[in-house]
Amino acid sequence: MRAIVVPAFGGSSVLDYAEVPDPVPGPGEVLVDVAAAGVNYIDVYHREGRYPLPLPMVPGSEGAGTVSQVGPGVTDVVVGDRVGWVSVPGAYAEKAVIPAASAIPLPAGVSPEQAAAVLLQGLTAHYLTTSTYPIRPGDTVLVHAAAGGMGLLLTQLARLHGARVFGTVSSEAKERMAREAGAEEVFGYDDFAKRVRELAPEGLPVVYDGVGATTFDGSLASVRPLGMLVVYGAASGPVPPFDLQRLNQAGSVFLTRPSLGPYIATREELLRRSADVLGWTASGQLDVHVFARLPLAEAQRAHDDLEGRKTVGKLLLIP
Ligand code: NDP
Repeated sequence: MRAIVVPAFGGSSVLDYAEVPDPVPGPGEVLVDVAAAGVNYIDVYHREGRYPLPLPMVPGSEGAGTVSQVGPGVTDVVVGDRVGWVSVPGAYAEKAVIPAASAIPLPAGVSPEQAAAVLLQGLTAHYLTTSTYPIRPGDTVLVHAAAGGMGLLLTQLARLHGARVFGTVSSEAKERMAREAGAEEVFGYDDFAKRVRELAPEGLPVVYDGVGATTFDGSLASVRPLGMLVVYGAASGPVPPFDLQRLNQAGSVFLTRPSLGPYIATREELLRRSADVLGWTASGQLDVHVFARLPLAEAQRAHDDLEGRKTVGKLLLIP
């Protein structure tokens, strides 16, 4: 099969479109014909070695397609099932082996492409808004990079839960997209903390920050006493070591650095959150904006566009 292979950690040029042996499902695993792979920032961290995986590796933490073979002992997934998955590397390929326990059944009305576009970021937006900080109707929340893959979904889900949303973006085109997704006020990055305090002098109950290094100080300055700063990513680089005393000075603020894994640790929780996300996608309550569908061979361009802040919403790779 054809796949993107990373032989050594580095820049986007290490993404090699190559012929590799077809993977074979072992006990408890299934083989999926990949219809689409979602492109996520974590793929960049994997490629760079910031979150190192054994090399050589096929990147891609999100995909969807049709089951073409099942390994020994698999009883609840059968050949022909349409499934999606997250957090199992190997989606940048024509075929992928995943644990049967990671297979998310796709409901009627959700195509594999839609699933590959919404699952990882949708599940993340789900846990961030219902579990990390359960949004209450009337809350005002700040979402950074509000026109990004995460940002558009987070904005829509925050609105669905009854919040008023402030967002940050880097361009007018992105501002339009963030407003269409439901952001009421949209700021640039230079003075967002000042703008937040003008509109909400007491500060905000929660700030969702996937940008990291460049926004962290302003995010902390935007949270109200006893509020929560959720640093869920580091698109601009990791936040440097931090003096805990600053949480005290900000008014006993809670700081968390969550990741998806622990929030979908059981099959029950994975399926419960997925059913919500895919249900909202099927009903149109969640509008998944696909920025581009690129051929698998163009994975390098996909990473360059994502890191170059050129994308709005989701990038897909189509084998
Ligand atoms: P996005 O589509 O949001 O792309 C990143 C965006 O970040 C850019 O478009 C850009 O928007 C903004 N940005 C701000 N500063 C920079 C910078 N210096 N370099 C690059 N981008 C910058 O990506 P994803 O939706 O895939 O991911 C967003 C974040 O969410 C990432 O940090 C990712 O790791 C995190 N994440 C975390 C998860 C978790 O469970 N913890 C799960 C999924 C994603 P603009 O130009 O408007 O500033």
